Amino acid sequence: MMSVGRVHKSDTGSRNRPAAIELRGVRKAYGLGRFAKDVVRDCSLTVAANRMTVLIGPSGAGKSTLIRLIAGFEKPDEGVIIVDGKPVTGPGSNRLVVFQESALFPWMTAEQNVVYGPTARGESYAAARRGAAALLERVGLTGFRGHYPRQLSGGMQRRVELARALVNNPAIMILDEPFRGLDAMTRRLMLDYYARLASESCRTNLFVTTDIDEAIFLADTVVVMSHLPTHVRRVIEVNLSKPRDYTALFQDDRANAIKVEALALLHEEAMRAFAGGSRAAADFVESYRRRIATA
Ligand code: ADP
Ligand code: MG
Repeated sequence: MMSVGRVHKSDTGSRNRPAAIELRGVRKAYGLGRFAKDVVRDCSLTVAANRMTVLIGPSGAGKSTLIRLIAGFEKPDEGVIIVDGKPVTGPGSNRLVVFQESALFPWMTAEQNVVYGPTARGESYAAARRGAAALLERVGLTGFRGHYPRQLSGGMQRRVELARALVNNPAIMILDEPFRGLDAMTRRLMLDYYARLASESCRTNLFVTTDIDEAIFLADTVVVMSHLPTHVRRVIEVNLSKPRDYTALFQDDRANAIKVEALALLHEEAMRAFAGGSRAAADFVESYRRRIATA
């Protein structure tokens, strides 16, 4: 069992070697018979170890489905998913997923929520509390450790969730649109927090978003996903120095070029999604395409 609650750089040596994720020809369908619908199809993707990989795609594209497959909550219909050299057969302690929906226990304080995982795995309460205290401090919530989730703002709740995930010191940290629904200001703050936390420890990060600015701000690698059934449209390396300044990010030509490239693809995918919705929408998209072509 790995020790818990210490996520400093020196802790991430051989004991907790970050793993990489690999998907090969993954397909996932929902529904049976003629109602079956592929949500993920022919999806191959490599998530490099010790890097920040950001998946971006239109909403409803199948991103969360992909994450559930990687997490091992569901099984692909075709293809394989390999984590740390081993095929995924179910959930594993080397991967930790934070979903958009809050998963905090409402009847527990912030600290109890963070302590829960380690003690459930046999860590002594005192040691778990020390770990929790260190992490709550890192996410700026020391003064709120005795508060219940309902007494915390949305942003604070997300920070407790980050602490609760980090306390397990997972080799792979997966966040699926964790800041969706937060107001713009809080979201920015959370992004800064998260970027800093991620840079402080050497682990494999997979982050899902629909926001291109967020993606470029965080990523070493941006992976643009197609609309349904989802697969990789393009992999873009973000060679911008860190730490990054969100406000000044797009004064950089390279950042802008990446944004333009990704947005063009996302626009195509969003149009495909829209066109798939109805005949009228398809006609609209068709005329839009013609207008662009003749512009
Ligand atoms: P994203 O996270 O990119 O917004 P999701 O993976 O949540 O997309 O969903 C993609 C598509 O898969 C949606 O059209 C959704 O209706 C469908 N879907 C997701 N989960 C299920 C399920 N358990 N059963 C049936 N359809 C599902
Ligand atoms: Mg989703």
